[in-house]
Amino acid sequence: HADTAMYRAKAQGRNRFQFYNHQLDREQLERVELENALFHALKHEEFELYYQPQVDIKTGLIDGAEALIRWNRPDHGMVSPGSFIPLAEECGLIGDIGDWVLEQACAQMHHWQQNGIHLRVSVNLSALQLEDPDFCEHVADCLQRYGLEPDQLELELTESILMKHVDQTTSLLSQLDAMGVHLSIDDFGTGYSSLSYLKRFPLDKLKIDQSFVREISVDQDDAVICRTIISMAENLNLKVTAEGVEEAQQLALLAEFGCHQYQGYLFSKPLPASELLALYQQQQREAAQVYVI
Ligand code: C2E
Ligand code: MG
Ligand code: MG
Ligand code: MG
Repeated sequence: HADTAMYRAKAQGRNRFQFYNHQLDREQLERVELENALFHALKHEEFELYYQPQVDIKTGLIDGAEALIRWNRPDHGMVSPGSFIPLAEECGLIGDIGDWVLEQACAQMHHWQQNGIHLRVSVNLSALQLEDPDFCEHVADCLQRYGLEPDQLELELTESILMKHVDQTTSLLSQLDAMGVHLSIDDFGTGYSSLSYLKRFPLDKLKIDQSFVREISVDQDDAVICRTIISMAENLNLKVTAEGVEEAQQLALLAEFGCHQYQGYLFSKPLPASELLALYQQQQREAAQVYVI
């Protein structure tokens, strides 16, 4: 990075060199600071998993949750993953963070299970995690230690992760699938990939990216895209989750198109584990009451 920036600075002419150099120092400093803070965060348990409910569109009941990492950074408040996951990927910390996320999600499922609650949790993966030759064993070990069935865990991959090392990924995903772990494609429709991978990989679910959902009720093209994804998935025996549902109108259209599941602020934002549990139990109580009456 230093070299490219230096080169850029030089290419702009001598006079600008000092300016860019200075700018570079500051950027580098901030980066190093953030990296150090990330190392520190991992050691001092500053990360927390939030859980966003995934709701069955037909029943309106929570039938899963996506684990989303948060960083409770001292003096900075809650930091969202968009601002540190990319850096963690670049500086190689994502392996350790990814391990922590998986461990934490499994521990949480174990805890819920002990209270009689069976919620499938989906975990986001980074490309680097799939490059670890022991990834599959690691997942199996984690599930076993917490006494979980593999189909309680769902792993979310983006199209770009899938396309990165196709052959390697194919065999890895086949192993995970054979174990019974569920696999989904996150942000579906936004990546540069060919549809042939839908046939190649043993997938369970497509998650329609929120950019298609946002204007589904006003933009005819977005509506067509959502409907097409849903009907294609149906024919390929895949489940579909719509992301980023904020309005009742969006949900009504998705339901009409036959979408199975949704996530979004309309139902709930991502919540601390205890709040998700409370929401789930409240739903169960209400459902039980309806049944009694
Ligand atoms: P994602 O996996 O596509 O997660 C969906 C994002 O949309 C989340 O942002 C969620 O809070 C947000 N969202 C949910 N419902 C709505 C809605 O109705 N409207 C809007 N506008 N947004 C909504 P978040 O939590 O900031 O996460 C951003 C991204 O960071 C995730 O996108 C995922 O790619 C990544 N990420 C999060 N946790 C992890 C993790 O543990 N590991 C890895 N590798 N990546 C993670
Ligand atoms: Mg996701
Ligand atoms: Mg499968
Ligand atoms: Mg997404």
